[in-house]
Amino acid sequence: MAYYSIADKCSLLEKINSTIELTSLLNLFGEQIEKLGLLDGYLINLIDATETSLISWKVHFIGEYQSLENTYAGYKVALAPDASNLSARAYLQRQTIQADIANATDEVKRLLGLWKLEDIAVIPLMPAEERQTAKLPGTIALLKQHGKIDQETLDILDELIGLFHAPLCNAQEYAFLKDYQSRFEAAAAEQSRFLQFIVEMNNMTAPERIYDMFSGELFHKLSFDMVGFFLLENEVLISKKISIINHRYETRRAKWEQFLLHHPYQQNTTDGGISHTFMRNTHLLFPDVQKIKHLPMSANDQATLKILGSVRTLLMVPIRYQNEPIGVLTFFTFADTVDISESDLSLLNNLSAFLGTAIINGRNYLLNLEQHREIERLNMILQDKVKELAEQAATDKLTGLFNFRTFELELNRRINEFERQTDKNGLSIAIIDIDHFKKFNDTYGHNAGNIVLAGVAREIGKLVRKMDLACRYGGEEFVVILAKCDPEGIRVFAERMRMAIAATEFETDAGKLSVTVSIGCTSHQLQDTYDSLFKRADQALYRAKENGRNRVELI
Ligand code: GH3
Ligand code: MG
Ligand code: MG
Repeated sequence: MAYYSIADKCSLLEKINSTIELTSLLNLFGEQIEKLGLLDGYLINLIDATETSLISWKVHFIGEYQSLENTYAGYKVALAPDASNLSARAYLQRQTIQADIANATDEVKRLLGLWKLEDIAVIPLMPAEERQTAKLPGTIALLKQHGKIDQETLDILDELIGLFHAPLCNAQEYAFLKDYQSRFEAAAAEQSRFLQFIVEMNNMTAPERIYDMFSGELFHKLSFDMVGFFLLENEVLISKKISIINHRYETRRAKWEQFLLHHPYQQNTTDGGISHTFMRNTHLLFPDVQKIKHLPMSANDQATLKILGSVRTLLMVPIRYQNEPIGVLTFFTFADTVDISESDLSLLNNLSAFLGTAIINGRNYLLNLEQHREIERLNMILQDKVKELAEQAATDKLTGLFNFRTFELELNRRINEFERQTDKNGLSIAIIDIDHFKKFNDTYGHNAGNIVLAGVAREIGKLVRKMDLACRYGGEEFVVILAKCDPEGIRVFAERMRMAIAATEFETDAGKLSVTVSIGCTSHQLQDTYDSLFKRADQALYRAKENGRNRVELI
């Protein structure tokens, strides 16, 4: 005889089918049980996604126990084959288990006493007629304080379970999928964030930024309060950076940093934890320093603990580059201890190897940059030197004009070039010789002579064009090579030069003095060689001297 009428069932099924949310479904289920008024409490336990435990999803107690509902919500019972827990047994055996008061074990008796119960029955959440094949989402434990849970109650529960079973399975599946989806999304987001971190670290060259970025990542992944970076430099382990998660640790951080400045850890296992971690190239974990702080330890460690105060969990991991230690990462918690799992350790070991690579890459980058800059600097010096030497070899010291050697090379080169030209635009030369310069020297002294030589050179320099070449041929003689200059051009040029020099007064220690020059000039003629061209200019000069000096002759 069914407890629920067809109409009841219809309206209940309508409600049941209106939700896919597990919690609302269980609330609906609980409501129906409570409506019966036959029981003093119940616990609905559902199997977890891995099918290894039953978890209390819905708990209902009455009277003085009501306040415990929250305590038991989410309570977990492992599904061990030898489980003594009634729910676990009912689930594994797929059948209703009712506490047999007469033959109850001490454990069951104790439990019943504790809860002031006279009976407990645990029913698998599936229709009784399909017990062996149906999917089993969990169990429901029924509690009764007075008397036994009778068959009628169990039958009604069976009816209810029949109605709820399939929707419950679906809702549970839905909840699993939702949970899986949100965990998957969180993992994907974390993965992409971490990838970003790796990319940024790889592109990083400034050590300070590497430490900051890295400690940020460590604080994100693990619950430490302080992280210290130590690197081997000049044979000792130097503190490079100490990061804290919260500003309230700043005082001890700064104090420790100051202390480490004068007390770096040595490469000696007895110098302390950091040295030991480095020398042994393996991590060192103290789950709770408070429990071991009375044991003997190195002076550095003692001082460190004193400065840092309430150190709880302390972990030190070597920073490695190609498996060799280059430093040590230190982790501290101050308020509470933190559990470090094997997977945390393996993550830290991998991260510290990555850190080592980033540090060495950064160092190499800076080293390269410095070397590159030094090479550039040396190159500049070298270039200046080369330029200076070349100028020295090509120019005359006193006048700054090109010297005889350059003149010879250049005139030969220009004659060759000129001969290959089709439109032979004149190539001319002029030899400029100071008149009576021997006498000038004798009269005013060699010093004044030098000043005049430099002055005449300056005047010549002013008049030549960029494509011309002015040289000191020797003594008080100068030569100018003029490109694209025909006989008429050279004559005009020479005349302008002669007048300019004659008009210039040179400041000497013997007063303002002036000189005149004689100029012999000529232009390139067919079949001319260096010698023939130069000889003709020299003859012109000779003629200028002969004809009274301070004049220009052109041959
Ligand atoms: P002329 O008009 O015929 O050219 O007579 P000159 O005296 O100029 O010719 P000469 O060749 O007899 O003498 C050239 C003089 O130029 C000799 C030397 O005293 C002077 N002299 C040559 N080189 C230098 C120099 O570097 N410094 C000074 N102060 N004098 C020089
Ligand atoms: Mg001369
Ligand atoms: Mg002379």
